[in-house]
Amino acid sequence: MSNSDIILEVNNIQAWFGDFQAVKGIDLKYEKNTVNAIIGPSGCGKSTYIRTLNRIHEEVEGARVSGEVILDGKDIYAPDADPVEIRRKIGMVFQKPNPFAAMSIYDNVVIGPRLWGKKKKSELDEIAFNCLTKAALWDEVKDKLHQEGTSLSGGQQQRLCIARTLATNPPIVLMDEPTSALDPIATGKIEDLMSELKKDYTVIVVTHNMQQAARIADYTSFFILGELIEHGLSSDVFTNPKEKKTEDYITG
Ligand code: ADP
Ligand code: MG
Repeated sequence: MSNSDIILEVNNIQAWFGDFQAVKGIDLKYEKNTVNAIIGPSGCGKSTYIRTLNRIHEEVEGARVSGEVILDGKDIYAPDADPVEIRRKIGMVFQKPNPFAAMSIYDNVVIGPRLWGKKKKSELDEIAFNCLTKAALWDEVKDKLHQEGTSLSGGQQQRLCIARTLATNPPIVLMDEPTSALDPIATGKIEDLMSELKKDYTVIVVTHNMQQAARIADYTSFFILGELIEHGLSSDVFTNPKEKKTEDYITG
């Protein structure tokens, strides 16, 4: 990949919980408009790592991070960087769908833009339409935008959370096991969605499901015990693995 295609550069990221080191020096470069999977056995540091990419790991009591994450030529850990601004540019979707309770579908999507000063109804309407459309949810909710977000099915709630993340227009979307809590049909919809999202965003997704990674990801990174063991085109990582990994480690 040429340098101009790189949107995010991770240099020697390490992360601790107190004295315990969960992530042990990761170097990776992410290319624009790609889906990037992170796989590896339970407890190998996938969630901790992805949470260093938008500075939410540091919210945990006693947590610490060292290293650099360069976005737009600037380290997100630079002393003058604002974590809130970073999370607007590097959004996160979690394993368990978490729409804001007692809040409508519409308000769930536009809450970010509202906080960032967008107040005009026409502007917010456009954001709600665009983001719900990109999240493949518009047709299912257009007639009930003022119903509570939590009234939707699990899969719809997760797509609502994706729409909410897209509403701050982040170039990068992080997802931590976004389909683990969903049934196969809802999972399939989100897998299809990821291929669409990469037209406009760069997606970094943790999954413990190797078949899913092979289906959706352009690149796959394989972690063991906080270290990056292998990284490359998914087609290479899965068809011609450098190490014997797969079923030996991955138990699902
Ligand atoms: P994965 O997402 O790959 O399953 P995690 O990143 O959640 O792994 O965890 C990596 C390691 O950090 C594990 O050994 C886990 O027990 C430990 N860990 C995770 N969260 C905490 C925490 N809040 N406090 C202390 N240790 C933690
Ligand atoms: Mg995890």
